[in-house]
Amino acid sequence: MKVLVINCGSSSLKYQVLDMTNESLLCKGLVERIGMEGSVITHTKVGMEEKFQLIVPMEDHKDAISHVLMAIQDESHGVVKDMSEIGAVGHRVVHAGEKFAHSVLIDDLVIEALEECVDLAPLHNPPNLLGIAACKELMPDTPMVAVFDTAFHQTMPPESYIYAIPYEYYEKYGIRRYGFHGTSHKYVAERAADILNVNLDDLKLITCHLGNGASVTAIKRGKCIDTSMGFTPLEGLVMGTRSGDIDPAIVTYIREKEGLDQGVANEILNKKSGVLGISGVSSDFRDIEAAAEDGNERAMLALKVFAHKVRFYIGAYIAEMNGVDAIVFTAGVGENDIAMRDIICNDLGNLGIKLDVVKNKVRGKEMIISREDSKVAIILIPTNEELMIARDTYQIVTGK
Ligand code: AMP
Repeated sequence: MKVLVINCGSSSLKYQVLDMTNESLLCKGLVERIGMEGSVITHTKVGMEEKFQLIVPMEDHKDAISHVLMAIQDESHGVVKDMSEIGAVGHRVVHAGEKFAHSVLIDDLVIEALEECVDLAPLHNPPNLLGIAACKELMPDTPMVAVFDTAFHQTMPPESYIYAIPYEYYEKYGIRRYGFHGTSHKYVAERAADILNVNLDDLKLITCHLGNGASVTAIKRGKCIDTSMGFTPLEGLVMGTRSGDIDPAIVTYIREKEGLDQGVANEILNKKSGVLGISGVSSDFRDIEAAAEDGNERAMLALKVFAHKVRFYIGAYIAEMNGVDAIVFTAGVGENDIAMRDIICNDLGNLGIKLDVVKNKVRGKEMIISREDSKVAIILIPTNEELMIARDTYQIVTGK
């Protein structure tokens, strides 16, 4: 069966088609500037060197998905003869609140439930729902599955997800830790078990998804027991442009000092903070590392603060799980930033964590990078959220 994976943002959309008989990628693409001037689809067929690109007006997500369907059925760069070959569509959905702890076949009740979660993810869930509605219209007979960023974290115990604020806010507004990047944490956890050739149920894992957005998760016996992102993806680690954990009193204080309204304060914490805010250079670790090498002290500081926070969570999760068998690095920084992995793992020998600095000189490749005498395995695993979405979709639709 072939599965179409759709990941809708507010003005962009990513897609892939996978053949689930061997989990191979057939094509992938990106639609940008939906509803703006200069809408464009860029499509890549696996094995074909040249990319196909078309600049064409696309007013909304339905237009965008129509063009995706045309691209995947195209005679030269398409991967299916007609849509009957697509057995199911898997949609990435950011927030399912407490409603879904697993991926789910989409029906009207599911859509209703997700609409109720819009308040919790006002930027993300509406475009996800637009993508679902568009597919429903364009391929009414194709089953669709929703795969949630929050679902994997629903196994957290209350002591991990309850905030120490009046309990009524949890009851009235659902204010609690939800966690994000769940599909990625789940994928790398399953891969880690395969690589170590140990049952996931017998492992204590700490998975570090370090990209532009970043989170760490403690996974005990295959279940998430804690994660660093919270009610929103702003909490936890220092990120590209997000502050991560700060004293909440800082927000009120800066607002008063600078006369900022709430929207501006949110924008500062989400878009102007993180390693960008500290370094003043960039949110991209490559730029910050280049500046640090040139002697820029704030760039050096940004890298140190980032690493400090990752180490802080690793230590906390070792305590929570009474140990760890493997630490996994994934996403843009985790997969590619040799120097950052080195700083994060430095001087943790007493905890049984010993990085092999030679093996660590690797990018974007599945590999164990700890020393032979390291009690804890350190593993680099490129994430693949699309494959995870396709797997869940295939399993739910076929029951296999
Ligand atoms: P992601 O959000 O997972 O796509 O990660 C994107 C981030 O990964 C970029 O903003 C960079 O900071 C980082 N990144 C990608 N490649 C490298 C590299 N070779 N060295 C350091 N950081 C990298």
